[in-house]
Amino acid sequence: MSRLRTVAATDTGYLRATNQDRAIATSDLAAVADGMGGHLGGEVAARIAIEQLFAAFRRDRTTDGLIVAVREANAAVYRRSRADRNLRGMGTTLTAAAVVGSGPGDDLRLALVNVGDSRAYILDRPGQRIHKLTEDHSVVEEMVRSGELTEDEAAVHPHKHILTRALGIEPQIEADCWELDLEPASRLLICSDGLTNELSDQEIARVLLDKPDAGDVASELVRQALARGGIDNVTVVVLDVVPGDAPAPSEDIVVIPVSAPGTSSSVSSEETAAITQAIAFKPEAGDAPGGARSGSSRRPVLLVRPPKGRRAHEDRVVTFRVAVFTVVFAVVLASVAGTVLWFDKASFYVGLDQGYVTIFQGRPGGLLWLKPSVVERTTVKPSDLLPSEVVYLRQGVEESSYQAARDTVHTLSLEHKLITSGDSVTTTTSAPTHNAKTTAAVGGRSSATGASDWSAQ
Ligand code: MG
Repeated sequence: MSRLRTVAATDTGYLRATNQDRAIATSDLAAVADGMGGHLGGEVAARIAIEQLFAAFRRDRTTDGLIVAVREANAAVYRRSRADRNLRGMGTTLTAAAVVGSGPGDDLRLALVNVGDSRAYILDRPGQRIHKLTEDHSVVEEMVRSGELTEDEAAVHPHKHILTRALGIEPQIEADCWELDLEPASRLLICSDGLTNELSDQEIARVLLDKPDAGDVASELVRQALARGGIDNVTVVVLDVVPGDAPAPSEDIVVIPVSAPGTSSSVSSEETAAITQAIAFKPEAGDAPGGARSGSSRRPVLLVRPPKGRRAHEDRVVTFRVAVFTVVFAVVLASVAGTVLWFDKASFYVGLDQGYVTIFQGRPGGLLWLKPSVVERTTVKPSDLLPSEVVYLRQGVEESSYQAARDTVHTLSLEHKLITSGDSVTTTTSAPTHNAKTTAAVGGRSSATGASDWSAQ
């Protein structure tokens, strides 16, 4: 004989204020509901759906009974939504699996139902991968099925949150339904989109393959989703087919409680049983998504998730962009500052300070936030120089290097000595390190008009 062991785990995540996911994990029923519809509506819709599902299924533990239970859950959410204007428009996804009998040998027969974009997967251990059993009732998934989008494009599509079906929106609901015969050691996963938006199929498969214990799998999946950002509520239920007689069905509703961000809660219907056998998934006609009992009605009901959730996602994108922009801006700013600093330190000029000809490092008048600094104060006074040269020295005579500045000072002194001794001033043209502008300003004027200026004194 085989029986089902189920373990659930959930977490609010880091950005949502409340956990609007609800789950149930019993020995014959497991389900995840992802509520939507404002601050309170999502929680209420998901809770009503889970409680009504459990209550209705225990009256008829068959595949038909599960389908009826989904319809009753839809009606209950819808009635509550219509009765309370504060809850108007609320809805929820619902993905559920229930033991409905035995298959060949020790196989366990499960019925699987789905409305919305929560998902059910089965582990294919030989293939080292997982197979998605459900079809998302979302706009982008419809586009994938029609060939308008690839799976990769759908994963990042901005409208992937828009659902075409959810519980509680209309009086009637059509649920997709399948029956599965599962061999011992089979492993299933039911989860909300808080998991599948954060982890790839390969990453989920790796956890399902590596962890023998269902409780460890549930906790690890939630932990990894949180590590990726925890943008949404994340909820998982792990279902293992284990050897043993079926225990008496639990009469307790196991609704996973809201947990504080950063702490996942884990609930197990049983504490025993380890998975030691290899998984054996038998794909059969009718088992595949869209199989024998898949719903036929696909009347679109366009729903938009609570704005708060989308803003949380968009905030994350904006935050990432801002972070990138900040880093780039800081790098550019540092580069500009470094260039300015280098340019300033490589600049020298000759001017006047405290009554003496002085060599400065920097630019005359300063450069941005950098003030010129005194490198060398000579013993040459303005009175030792031609008046026309003093005028230019007050403005600062720029030089290309410290040595050039010293040469200029030397030349100025020499000019004065030569003029006062009555010799020619042709040496002014030999100031080798003046740039063209400086030579014209200092040397040119001193040679052309300096004598007359000096004579006029
Ligand atoms: Mg969600």
